[in-house]
Parts: sequence; C-alpha cells; structure tokens
Amino acid sequence: MVTSQQALKKYGPASDSNPSLVLWDVPTNLEIGMIPKRIYCNKDLIGPLSLAFKKLIDTGSVKELKTWDGCFNIRKKRGLTSMSLHSWAIAIDVNAFENGLGQTPKLSNKFVECFTSSGFDWGGTWTRKDGMHFQLSKI
Ligand SMILES: [Zn+2]
Repeated sequence: MVTSQQALKKYGPASDSNPSLVLWDVPTNLEIGMIPKRIYCNKDLIGPLSLAFKKLIDTGSVKELKTWDGCFNIRKKRGLTSMSLHSWAIAIDVNAFENGLGQTPKLSNKFVECFTSSGFDWGGTWTRKDGMHFQLSKI
C-alpha cells in the first residue's frame, strides 16, 4: 500500500501548486453524470481512473455511482497524524453518504473490482474501513 512517506518522496510537499497536479478534462466518452467534467488531480491518477470509469460504464456498475466526493484535499488522515493521499490527489472518494469511515461499505464487489483491477487499493478492506475511498495501489 502506498504510504504518505512514499508520496512525499515522489511528489514533494503537498500544495495547491504541486507540479504533479493537473486539471484533467474528462474525455466525453468517459463522462458520467455526477463526475465533474474537469478534475484537479495528480497526473498519475488519470490512467487508472480513466480505466476504472471505462469499466464502470462497460459493466453497468456506473449506476451504483451516486456521488463524487472529491480527490484533491490537503489534510491528515481523519483522527491520525499521517497525511492522507488526497493531499497529493492520488485518491478519490465516492458514495460517501453510505460508505462512511468505520461503517460497513455498501459498494458491490463488481463495482469495487472496476477500481481494484485498474490500479487502485480500496479502503473498504482496511481494519478501519473507509468504503468511500480508493487510492493508487502503486506510484
Ligand atoms: Zn478518501
């Protein structure tokens, strides 16, 4: 699993102007209702996220996607001292309203696999479950 130390080493300090961050125009063939048309994210997120979006669309799992709850957000992990990978925009949150921290995730296996087979780790398997959260599995 990617740690905040690894992210710091690769991308440098988290900041609004980190050189790895780009404004990504989501291609029209990957447009999904509630997903923003432009996402401010790490350039390394674009490939895996494009693949995950394509799989969501192709498998019909896209209908499970109810809310987009963000990508870039400089902050510590909730209740912890280490930085969240959102600080480098290599993590996203979806369906936060029913996949809260510490709650039993509601996302289906099929939905989750669209991400885990595209280069993401899922927070729903962690000891402290974070079902809304997907982050790059390697950087
Ligand atoms: Zn998250």
